[in-house]
Amino acid sequence: MPTDSPLSLPCLSSQERIDLALEHAASRIIAFRRHLHQHPELSLKEFATSAWIAQILEAEGIGLRLGSGDRGVIVDVGTLPASGGIALRADCDALPILEENTFPHASGHPGVMHACGHDAHTAMLLGAVIALHHAGAPVAARGIFQPAEEAGDGALGMISDGALNGVSAIIALHVDPNLPTGRAAAVAGPQTASCQDFSVTIHGRGGHAARPHLTIDPVAIAASLITQIYQAVPRHLDSRQAVVVSICQIHAGHASNVIPDTARLDGTIRSLDNGSAIAAREKLERLCRGVAVGSGAEIVPVFERRIPGTVNDPAVTGVCAEAAFELFGPDAVLTTGPASLGAEDFADYLQLVPGCMMRLGVKYPDRPVTPLHTPTFDLDETALIHGSRLLLHSLLKLAQPPC
Ligand SMILES: [Zn+2]
Ligand SMILES: [Zn+2]
Repeated sequence: MPTDSPLSLPCLSSQERIDLALEHAASRIIAFRRHLHQHPELSLKEFATSAWIAQILEAEGIGLRLGSGDRGVIVDVGTLPASGGIALRADCDALPILEENTFPHASGHPGVMHACGHDAHTAMLLGAVIALHHAGAPVAARGIFQPAEEAGDGALGMISDGALNGVSAIIALHVDPNLPTGRAAAVAGPQTASCQDFSVTIHGRGGHAARPHLTIDPVAIAASLITQIYQAVPRHLDSRQAVVVSICQIHAGHASNVIPDTARLDGTIRSLDNGSAIAAREKLERLCRGVAVGSGAEIVPVFERRIPGTVNDPAVTGVCAEAAFELFGPDAVLTTGPASLGAEDFADYLQLVPGCMMRLGVKYPDRPVTPLHTPTFDLDETALIHGSRLLLHSLLKLAQPPC
């Protein structure tokens, strides 16, 4: 249909109004990100962050409600249709990392840093929500500002606060420091791994370092158990299914000449296949039982909640990819690519409604990559307006049938 057709004008005017409102918000989005970056809060402690988000929205005359415990913010722009509306989600928590960047808006809270880009996610969603409001909400949307993503249970908290009530689809962005600014990815299918953290406590019997035969040495047992896990898991599970078990902490002992009573291992199971994740856990439990019998120690594995893998819905992802094509050009948008074995609790929303987590390029054109979760992580702020625009153009396409 020609773009000057009267029937197409409402669609054009919605997009134009939104783009105009976003242009006005562009410099504020960068200011939002800098404020958040300078005032990071750890998972489960996002009280000031949530209050600040609420204050910004209230100043715009946008109604909102805080999540339970005054963490997280849920906002509706316009009235969601009875058939179900679209939710836009951003996370807002930081990490326990001592920032090494020295720019003026570096973290003012030593040991806490926005090193996963959640400051950018929140800033982009704030910009999108404000622009949508100023554009007269040609389509309705729910904004979900979620705490505790890094802790893995923030999404569940927002869901129990009713964030998905009346929602039929959900979209989100994660910054990608490997993708240059001006590029994006919208890939259907698995994006992140199923993730289950665990601890294993080995209860032995301590004693003098000179007489290990009179002890049940939990350090030696821990060493043996780690080796057995690393040998057994890849030999026990189908190599075609990606699964990895990593032991990342060992705690035992307090002196070089005393065999301790206990040792503790902490680790994680990551897999792109739920069946493999469950099989890896069962194998680990069997190894603990076997080593306990062989050594005489009591070995107690404890598993935390398994976060499911993020699986992007093909239909929603296809629409988001179209929006990205229009904004960035087809050559600048990835629609295929390998999944990450990282975890992302956006997966919890996708257990209930279809959706898509896109990736937004934020790499400076002339600087080396600074990876997520590192003390020098930084991003190209000129990408932020692209992110807000991508969220709103995807929203328009999802909420309105094509003209
Ligand atoms: Zn992270
Ligand atoms: Zn993240």
